[in-house]
Amino acid sequence: MTITARILDGKATALEVRADVALDVESLVERGIHPGLAVVLVGEDPASCVYVRNKDRAARAAGIEVQTLRLPADVSQADLLSRVRALNEDSRVHGILVQLPLPAGLDADEVLLSIDPKKDVDGLHPKNIAALVQGRKGLVPCTPAGCMELLDRAGIELEGLHVVVLGRSALVGKPVAQLALARNATVTICHSRTRDLARVVAEGDVVIAAVGRAKLVEGAWIRPGAVVLDVGINRGEDGQLVGDVDFEAASERAAAITPVPGGIGPMTIAMLLSNTALAAARQSGLAGA
Ligand code: NAP
Repeated sequence: MTITARILDGKATALEVRADVALDVESLVERGIHPGLAVVLVGEDPASCVYVRNKDRAARAAGIEVQTLRLPADVSQADLLSRVRALNEDSRVHGILVQLPLPAGLDADEVLLSIDPKKDVDGLHPKNIAALVQGRKGLVPCTPAGCMELLDRAGIELEGLHVVVLGRSALVGKPVAQLALARNATVTICHSRTRDLARVVAEGDVVIAAVGRAKLVEGAWIRPGAVVLDVGINRGEDGQLVGDVDFEAASERAAAITPVPGGIGPMTIAMLLSNTALAAARQSGLAGA
């Protein structure tokens, strides 16, 4: 294997972002504002527990005050909604994150809708999605924001480039496409019904894969010199984590590529912290609303 691509190191870049957030938090604290994040975990899904623990640790390390609200899997929708509304009213809480997926029987859309959009640090409230589409200030979903931050810090500009996004979820595909469009890229969004995916991907100056299928994107599909962001997190046949892109083959053709793990994943947590500090500053009248 000859890796010729530049590796976009999300782990190292996320540490830079987290250090910047820690400085922002420090200056807020000097003004008497203690950024606070509330994490709501319903049930005991093992993956969700790991995610919540990682977010909790990272937020504390940046100086953010964290409260984790653990609720049983059989909590009623009404009880969950009233807990979220109480957090909306709590002035010590600047960011609210409800860990998804919620256990069966709970309506995640209604829960997301109940979060105060100003505190919606996951950027999934319809008001924040509308702001993203209309180019207004809001809170941007963390994984798509992490993709853009990684490109920015690597000095890669999207203006005029053809960005091919694989996946159209509300969490990743659609918002990342909007962010690329806002940076004056020409954007194509692919999904499970896209015909001749290989041909479409080969047109991309930048390929952002967010599908959830191990090594779906073959190395030969990548246009030589393209930039590849691999959002996918999958278990390979050997149990190891792999992305949506065949990393080894793609890195022989790409100019730059993110690894899995150590690419977009760490950036996602870093952007959650960044959103929390931003939300705290805005709620305190210190940053543009
Ligand atoms: P999702 O909601 O399941 O969406 C997957 C998308 O991929 C859908 O739009 C689907 O198309 C499309 N798709 C499925 N099979 C396809 C195929 N064969 N060819 C082309 N498109 C196909 O997933 P998600 O939440 O967006 O997450 C995507 C991946 O990113 C997952 O591996 C997830 O674990 C990972 N992820 C990582 C992070 C991180 O921090 N790094 C954060 C979030 C998600 P249809 O719409 O037609 O069904």
